[in-house]
Parts: sequence; structure tokens; C-alpha cells
Amino acid sequence: MSERKAIGIDLGTTFSAGAHIDAYGKPQIIPNAESERITPSVILFDGESAIVGTLAKNNSVSEPEKIVDFVKREMGKPKEQFHREFGGKLYSAEELSALIVKKLKADAEKYLQAPVTDAVITVPAYFNDAERTATITAGQLAGLNVLQIINEPTAAALAYGLDKLDENQTVFVFDLGGGTFDVTIMRIEDQKIEMIATNGDHRLGGKDWDDVIVNLVAEEYSAAHGENPLLDLASYQDLQTRALAGKIQLSSRPHTAIVHHHNGKSVKVELTREDFEERSRHLIEKCKTICEIVMQEAKMKWDNIDKILLIGGMTRMPMVREMISQLSSAPLVSDMNPDEAVAVGAAIQATLSMLREEEKTGKKLLGENTRQQFSSRDGHLIQITDITSHTLGVVLWDETHLEEYVFPMIRKRTAIPASAKNSFGIASANMQRAVVKVVEGESTLPGECTPLGLCDVQLPPFLPKGSPVELTYHYNANQVLEVNVEACGNRSKVSIERNTGLAPEEMEKAISGLGKVTVE
Ligand code: AMP
Repeated sequence: MSERKAIGIDLGTTFSAGAHIDAYGKPQIIPNAESERITPSVILFDGESAIVGTLAKNNSVSEPEKIVDFVKREMGKPKEQFHREFGGKLYSAEELSALIVKKLKADAEKYLQAPVTDAVITVPAYFNDAERTATITAGQLAGLNVLQIINEPTAAALAYGLDKLDENQTVFVFDLGGGTFDVTIMRIEDQKIEMIATNGDHRLGGKDWDDVIVNLVAEEYSAAHGENPLLDLASYQDLQTRALAGKIQLSSRPHTAIVHHHNGKSVKVELTREDFEERSRHLIEKCKTICEIVMQEAKMKWDNIDKILLIGGMTRMPMVREMISQLSSAPLVSDMNPDEAVAVGAAIQATLSMLREEEKTGKKLLGENTRQQFSSRDGHLIQITDITSHTLGVVLWDETHLEEYVFPMIRKRTAIPASAKNSFGIASANMQRAVVKVVEGESTLPGECTPLGLCDVQLPPFLPKGSPVELTYHYNANQVLEVNVEACGNRSKVSIERNTGLAPEEMEKAISGLGKVTVE
């Protein structure tokens, strides 16, 4: 057997986790070096070393200037737009995430007593091309072969569905985490798992509920002492921690008290669950709207849903459960550990990827137990169909209205991997180059879509107006796009110039730069 070992990684906004498939073919969470099953996604820079996890999190109040957290929210941004500086070096979002992955990899190696070579990393279904590419880069920078990027709800659904393949059912996966919200509708039928629709908001999560409490306490403090406690970073972070603890307490108790000390003065705010729910009504309404949209997209009624699968720490909150129960009478399933399901699903996908590779190459990578666990009744590997989260289009020129518009090449909710080919006429005679603008989004107005990049192709001379340019979009299993342009018989393969991401030479530099940082 080969020396390769694959793990699944849930690279979360607040916490991350790793999982693997054991020798009996069963998924298991990998505890970190501190013997915890999840690792806070917090980095503390201390000279040449980066401390990741609980120790970093515990120091976030005393040394806020050395701390990085919520880096997932910055993924996909170019370095000029987001970076943090430590020890005279600028770190991009991918590099910071790579440090978290490095910690998970190192701890997994310690626990499994074997080198970890491969991984599947999860992302919110709503992550776009740039955010996905950045996540792949983070894994590679940490020294891993990234087998695949999969959607968090897909991973959670896999963790749930693996041993329920014999029961045909439609499952609504509701995943509200620390910083992101995803909903997915999944169908298990004839031992196949198929994603039907997916939607979400990657700027909606537990932190927004925490902020409701943070702002309330800050207002009361200001009213009592005439000073805004949020202007001081240490005070702000301290209050964030207290607010989060208060929120969690309100999940099991009808009231809580939050005490905040700052500059020798303090304030005590009593908060009932009812009052908290009222103050965060706008947030739960946002979740509800997204649930209704995804049902419309799936062309389903709530009666079609057999089960609601709850993932993400925030689904422990009573107001979240109540809102869902008002929408659907389907039973809520939360027996899966919400903090662990995503990593477990990633480990399952990692194993399936390795087994598929075995099939292709004929080289044995895993044990027979594992193959059996991952095969359906007919002896074939379990089939999972995921779908695109966004429409991918191309910007074209409308001759009649003299304006640009977006032509959809691959529509949202197409099964992936997906390919599409279309031919377009050039806008004027004797054009020297065809510049293809690739965008992502649901609108026909280019300004309302996210630009993904450009493909700039040289055209043969003296082409008449309307000469065909053939575009091929290929959306791979990672939901990362490759575009090919074929202009008038010129079979030139043009890859997309992304607005973000590291070029190969920058990658090497980044890897060697990160190599100097020890991760604890
Ligand atoms: P995740 O990213 O899935 O780990 O979700 C973490 C989020 O869930 C954070 O915002 C936590 O504060 C929140 N959370 C965890 N447990 C509870 C609980 N019992 N009640 C309310 N929120 C919780």
C-alpha cells in the first residue's frame, strides 16, 4: 500500500477540525495536540512562531495586536486589499489560513503517527471562485495535496447520509456557524446522494448575534460612563468573549447577566432570552428568507422535506429551532455533533477521492475494509452529485441596445463537474483581440455580477464582423472555473487570469516564507 494518508479538514471561521477514516473504514475526529476535538481558528504571532488554537484564543484579550481571527471572512481578497503584518512580513488571507491548516496537519501526524499527504477541505457552498481558489492555495501552502474542495453542507450531508443510503429521503440541511450560513436540499435515492439546491449568506453567523449583545452592553456602558468601550481593542475583544458566553447561556437559561469592566469602571446588563430574541429578530428573519428562497429554487414545498438536518453551533439556539419548526413539520435531526460533522464528511470525501484514484490507476491506496464501507449494494463506489452554487457567465455586447449584458454559460444548480460550449460573433470587423470577461452571479447586468477575470485572445488578421469565437467553460469538482477560448480556428488554450490568487512563482516564495514560521 502507498505511503499516502488523507484527512478531511473543516476550516471554520471560529473553529477548525480534522477527521480521518480509520483502519475499519469508520470516520473519526482527530484530536489536536491539546487533546481537543476542535481547534479555534485563531493565530497568535509570537516572534518567528505562530501559535494556533486555544492558547492563541486565550491570549486574544491580553495581546490583541498579535492575534488574527475570522480570517475565513477575508479569503479570496488580494493581498493589497487584506493582509496582516507581523515581524515585518505581510501575510495574506491564504497564508494565514495555511498556518491553521499546518497546525491541523502537524497534530494529525502526531496522532496518527504517519505523514499526512492529502486532504479534502470544506468551504461554505456560497464561496465563490476566488474564495475557493484561496482555500486550495491555503492547503497547498501548508504542504498538502488538496484532493478536492467540497461544500460544508455537502460534507455534513455525507456524514449524515453515509449509513442511511437504504432509506430514500429528502433532507434540508441548515448550517448556521460562527460566521456563515448555508442551506442545502439533498436527496438520498437508490443509494445515491444528490444535492438539489443550495443558497446562503457568508456574512451571517453567530458573530452577528454576539454583536447584538456587544452593542447593547456598549450602549449601556456609554450611557453610564460617557465613554465608548469599543474604541479600545482589548476592551472590545473582552466584551466579544463575554457576549458570546452570554449568548450561549441564553440557549439553556431564560436570562443572563453580562458584566463589563473597562478603565476602572463597569456595567452590568441583565438580558432575558425574550429580549435577546427580539433584538436579533432581523437576523433570524434573514435566515428565514434564505430558507424560503432555496425552497423556491428547488421547486419544492415544505411537505416534500422528510428531515431537517441541523449543523453549526448556532443551531443549538432555541430561536433558530423555533423558526425552522414554524416553516416545516419535518423532524429536526441534530444527533450529529455539529462541530464535527463537516470534518467527518470531508474525510469521507477524501477517502472516496482516493478510492476513485485507485480505480483509475489500479494502484492500491487503501484497505479492503474501507472499500467495502464506501461501496453501495451493487459494489460500486457511493455516488455523490453536487451542484453549482452560482451562475457563470460571459459579458457580451448587445448590438440593439448598445450595452453590455451577461450571457449565462453554466447556470446555478447544474450538476458538477459541468461544461458548456457556446459560439459568439466578434463585435466588429478586423478585431485584433477578443477580450472575454468572465463573471459570476445571477444578474444579466455586468455591474451586479462578480468579475472573475479575463481571457485575452489574439485573433487572426482581417476577420469579418460576426466571425465566431467559441467559448468553453469547465467547472471542475472544486467549483473552480477553467475557460478555453477558440478563435476562428485558432485552437489557443487560454486560461483565466484571476483577479486573486498567487502565481506559481509567488506560491514558491510563500511556501518558503511560511516554512520559516514554526506553528505550535
Ligand atoms: P461553528 O462555526 O459551526 O462552530 O459555530 C460556532 C458558533 O455557534 C459560534 O457563534 C458559537 O457562539 C455558536 N454556538 C455554539 N454553541 C452554542 C449554543 N449552545 N448556543 C448558541 N450558540 C452557540
